[in-house]
Amino acid sequence: MGDKASCERPIFVIQKHRAGRLHYDFRLEVDGVLVSWAVPKGPSTDPRQRRLAVRVEDHPIGYAGFEGVIPEGEYGAGAVIVWDAGYYRNLLAEGGPRGEAPATMAEGLEAGSLRVHLDGQKVRGGYKLVRARLGGDPKNWLLIKMKDDAADARRRPTSTRPESVLSGRTLEEVAEEG
Ligand code: MN
Repeated sequence: MGDKASCERPIFVIQKHRAGRLHYDFRLEVDGVLVSWAVPKGPSTDPRQRRLAVRVEDHPIGYAGFEGVIPEGEYGAGAVIVWDAGYYRNLLAEGGPRGEAPATMAEGLEAGSLRVHLDGQKVRGGYKLVRARLGGDPKNWLLIKMKDDAADARRRPTSTRPESVLSGRTLEEVAEEG
């Protein structure tokens, strides 16, 4: 603690959310807001798995710590837990693997191609987020694990680690406690 550089690292958070249909909200701090995607199946640690990630509205940074129940009648009504959280690095800022120029997160968002290194408790290492261009909705992106030391075709953290990293509670426990 007290390291100025570490205090300036951007955060990421993954909130497990049952609003109608279960999904994981994947959020990256970019220029003072949480840029967000809803990932129905959650992140995979297997580079062969492409997970649909639907871009949703930006959220305020303070929302990263939210866990609880959004009341009926409000947007996103249902239970939320902080499933994973930590800091991330923009790998695009280091330049691309084929000599591409360094890019900011804002530039990567505009281009529809991000590379981030996550330092979470459950999810770690490089992830690609790329806009899906199959003639579909431009809100549709894909979240894909990059091949690195944290890649693992057999880990299933969404199954084996369902609990909140803030409170240890499951989504069902938070829903019951209201
Ligand atoms: Mn949500």
